[in-house]
This record gives sequence, C-alpha cells and structure tokens, in this order.
Amino acid sequence: MSELLQVRDLSYSIGSKSLLTQVSFAVDKGSYFSIVGPNGAGKSTLLKIIARVLSGYQGQVMFEGSELRSVANRVLAQRIGYVPQLFTIEFPHSVQEFVLMGLYSQLGRFYPVTGEQRQKVQAALALTGTSDLAERRLSTLSGGERQRVLIAGALVHNPHILLLDEPTAFLDPKHEFEVEALLREIRAKLGITVIAVTHNLNHCALYCDQVLALRAGKVVFQGAPRDLMQNHVLFDIFDHRFDLLLHPRKDFYMIVPRAE
Ligand code: ADP
Ligand code: MG
Repeated sequence: MSELLQVRDLSYSIGSKSLLTQVSFAVDKGSYFSIVGPNGAGKSTLLKIIARVLSGYQGQVMFEGSELRSVANRVLAQRIGYVPQLFTIEFPHSVQEFVLMGLYSQLGRFYPVTGEQRQKVQAALALTGTSDLAERRLSTLSGGERQRVLIAGALVHNPHILLLDEPTAFLDPKHEFEVEALLREIRAKLGITVIAVTHNLNHCALYCDQVLALRAGKVVFQGAPRDLMQNHVLFDIFDHRFDLLLHPRKDFYMIVPRAE
C-alpha cells in the first residue's frame, strides 16, 4: 500500500504551551487508522492540523505527495472530509441542506443547485442510511442520526480521507456499533482512508489496521492494534493498568472491566 499521508516531525504550540512535539507517522492509502490517547493528549489538535483548521505548525505534513500548506483550498475541501469532535448544530437547516453545504467549494454563485450536485447529496444520504431524514431539521435528530448526517456531509465530495474526531462519543452501544460499521463500509466500498480518534480500544483492536497513540503531545506507540493490547503499552499511554482477556475467536487481547 502507498502512503497517503506522511507526517514528519510535526510540532505545534500555542504561546509557550507545546500541544504536539515531533510527531511522525504515515498513513497507508485505504487503511483504517486510529488515533488514541488520554484526554488532552493532542489528538484533536492533530486532526485539526490535517484538516487545515489549524495552521502555523512546524515540520511537514505531506498529503498525496504535496506539503499540506501548498494544497489549494478548493482541492483540500474536496479531498479531505472532516467530522469535528462535539459538533453542535445551532442553525435551522434540514439534513439535505446541511449535506449540500458540504459541497460549498463546488457551488458557484449561480444557484440553483445542479442535478449532479443533488445526486451527490442523495448518494451521501443513501450511503449513510439517512435518506429518510432528508427533510428533518438537524436539531431534531438523535445522536446516532446526527453523527450519520455529519458523516454524509463530510463524504459528499467523495474525499480521499475522512477524518473523524471521536465519532462514537455519547452514543449507546448499538449506535456506536452502527457508526463503526458505517466507517468500515465507507472504507471497503469507496476505498476512502479513514482516520478516527477513538477511546474504544476494543473496537480499534478488532477493526483498525494501524494505531497511533499520543500522550502529552508525543507519540508513545504506533503499530498494529494487536501490539497495542499489552499491559505495558497501555500503561505507557494511559498511566493505568487494565485487565486483558484473549478474544474467544481472535488471536489478540481485549480490555475487560477491571474487577477489584
Ligand atoms: P485531545 O483531543 O487529545 O483531548 P486536544 O488536542 O483537544 O486534546 O488538546 C491538547 C491540549 O492542548 C490540551 O491540554 C488542551 O487544553 C490544549 N489546548 C487545545 N486548544 C488550545 C488553545 N486554543 N489554547 C490553549 N490550549 C489549548
Ligand atoms: Mg479531542
């Protein structure tokens, strides 16, 4: 597999505070890549840099062979889809309008929207199982529905990378599983590289190809999920000891709730 994203010696600070320090890793094209780590580790900051929501970093972020700083806005908007953490929707738009807004970089001043653009919106809604919600106001959706719609909005361009910041936070187990399954489907069906920040290490162990762990803005682990699931590795990341149990059908360990 070829490398879609290559981050080299990335550092980012605000004032005298270092949020990321000398972070280096590579993401293969078409992979499901997870970023884990405790709260405040710099995960969201890293995703925002890749989405170019934040600029002014040191080091290099190479996206499809070009330094991210030099990629045109229009190109970037089409190639990288980003679902931020805790996206709260205040405006009174319908689901359909929201997903259409994801195409803003292609919409000129000349409305109405073209048939092709409408089709792209319909396809994104269909893929995320939200077609029935098209006319609903965003503010009326449940957490699971909203997350699917946010993913539809990020997918409408058919981007090369989908970045998601804790996409299953606050979802009940069933909806969490459904969103995770949707991400796997997006990757398998469309070949889109998925980079997701998650706290669900078991999910990550089961389904991800590669994991990057940050702690206090530094890389403390990168590699295969099965190698993450070791007590000394998890301790280095989370400063906490977990109980691990061999999965009944897979050859790796999972975290179980610790019984004292
Ligand atoms: P994570 O997503 O891993 O929880 P973040 O990337 O959101 O962590 O934040 C990393 C650290 O940077 C935290 O300590 C956070 O408080 C700090 N931080 C984030 N944004 C700012 C900011 N705008 N100004 C100062 N500190 C910030
Ligand atoms: Mg975060």
